[in-house]
Amino acid sequence: MTFALAAAAHRANGGTMSLFPPATCSRLIVKIGSALLVDAEGAVRRSWLVGIAADIAARTRAGQQVAVVSSGAIALGARRLGLAKGGRGTLEDAQAAAATGQIALSQVWADVLGGEGLTAAQILVTLDDLEHRRRYLNAAATLDRLLTLGVVPIINENDSVATEEIRFGDNDRLAARVAQAAGAGGVILLSDIDGLYDRNPALPGASHIPRVERIDGKIEAMADTGSASGMGSGGMVSKIAAARIANAAGAHLAIASGHTDRPLSTEARHTLFIAEKGASARKAWLAGGLTAKGRLTIDAGAAKALQGGASLLAAGVTGATGSFARGDILDIAGPDGRVVARGLSEYPAADAAAIVGLGRDAQEAALGYAPRSAMVHRDHMVLL
Ligand code: GLU
Repeated sequence: MTFALAAAAHRANGGTMSLFPPATCSRLIVKIGSALLVDAEGAVRRSWLVGIAADIAARTRAGQQVAVVSSGAIALGARRLGLAKGGRGTLEDAQAAAATGQIALSQVWADVLGGEGLTAAQILVTLDDLEHRRRYLNAAATLDRLLTLGVVPIINENDSVATEEIRFGDNDRLAARVAQAAGAGGVILLSDIDGLYDRNPALPGASHIPRVERIDGKIEAMADTGSASGMGSGGMVSKIAAARIANAAGAHLAIASGHTDRPLSTEARHTLFIAEKGASARKAWLAGGLTAKGRLTIDAGAAKALQGGASLLAAGVTGATGSFARGDILDIAGPDGRVVARGLSEYPAADAAAIVGLGRDAQEAALGYAPRSAMVHRDHMVLL
């Protein structure tokens, strides 16, 4: 039995709460997986898209701002180019497929949303655009402007230029990042599975988890790897990683099945991951960062001071590695090597290395200029 069939078999009298209604969620991000957009022959599932466009229109009329993270470029392009393995055989194939499929994908979104009187806008981003502080702020500003103008942003990864090292690879985490940048209250990941199960849902006795208050090791162990459809790249592991990012940014996240005609207006079973309370977007951005540019190792005294809310002073740092600039994200590891915090570096790598372990007076001599108050300021740091 496939993952999807198993999920369907388990779909019985589950929780039927309506997901993120406009009254309680003013901004919503909806991620749509490849298998919902593109059929097994590689053609666009247009009538399904017409349904979801009607759902989006109903929500916008009720005052909700909606952005869509749409997969499907690779699946569509691969079909047009006749590429093997759904265009995912090599990175070059995926890039060519994405470039070809994206233009068709945007067209179809513009058409179906246009049919509802809505304007679509395309945003293609790379991992760096959402992880580099300055560019993240730019992307956030663009999203905000589009949403306040009543436009529906259609977002995808810029797969045709993103190389392996700078790729999200799956749109689940991209959707969570977009939610964070847009300050959204909710994220819905629509795919071919109606939520998290305590084990692979194809196994006998698997039970559906309706609500997750906190993502811990037990929840992570429930995730199976791989995409059910084989068309997209995100499996349950990337969905849980997305939930972690979204929840830390103060957004609830739901995993729901898109296998109904109007998935955003029909009540169906799903798993809801509850947002952390009081998470600030800036700190969330730091905690969710996928790539640190460098690493500081600190002594036990400094580790204790950080727990108490202090900034990280150079005197407590025992090592600085990596090539980073001022403002880049650094991992901060305790004496045992475990990463205990993340923050923005006040110094470029060479200067940080020059003042490792030094007190304030000695720092000035080593740097040749007046030192900053800390190596990582507490306002730009998050404890993990
Ligand atoms: N960005 C990819 C595409 O448009 C999809 C990534 C994913 O599978 O989540 O085809």
